[in-house]
Amino acid sequence: MPLTDASHDDAGLRLAAADAAALADSIRSAGLKVTAPRLAVLRALTDKPHSNADALFGAVYSDLPGTSLQAVYGVLASFTAAGLVRKIEPAGSPALFERRVGDNHHHIVCTRCSVVHDVDCAVGHSPCLTPADALGFDVRAAEVIYWGLCARCQADTLAP
Ligand SMILES: [Zn+2]
Ligand SMILES: [Zn+2]
Repeated sequence: MPLTDASHDDAGLRLAAADAAALADSIRSAGLKVTAPRLAVLRALTDKPHSNADALFGAVYSDLPGTSLQAVYGVLASFTAAGLVRKIEPAGSPALFERRVGDNHHHIVCTRCSVVHDVDCAVGHSPCLTPADALGFDVRAAEVIYWGLCARCQADTLAP
């Protein structure tokens, strides 16, 4: 396929098609069948990591008018089970989903505005995976959620 085609001003369209192919590949390599709702949810999650099911439903609804919140929950459950997305559940918040999986990163959450950011483990290893006493468990993952006020909320609360 030629990289450029001067007769069509469709760079955006081709980009979207390449994008869709990459999304479809990720779904297939997780062992799942590629469906329109799965493509749409994965695309929305790529655009906005740490989204909850409601937000994702809002993002895909216009492209898939026939879809339901229940269908989005179904897609997220299959993605999570297949290891394609990670589900995080900060206390007091609905479950959030993200595509960044398998690196045991952590999260920092603002207690005021609920913004969520990724926090890396020390590069190269995951010190948090070594509990003082693993009680005989084969530990595979550790979840740390740091809570605090984000920079913007600190500035807001200091403002007169
Ligand atoms: Zn905040
Ligand atoms: Zn994350």
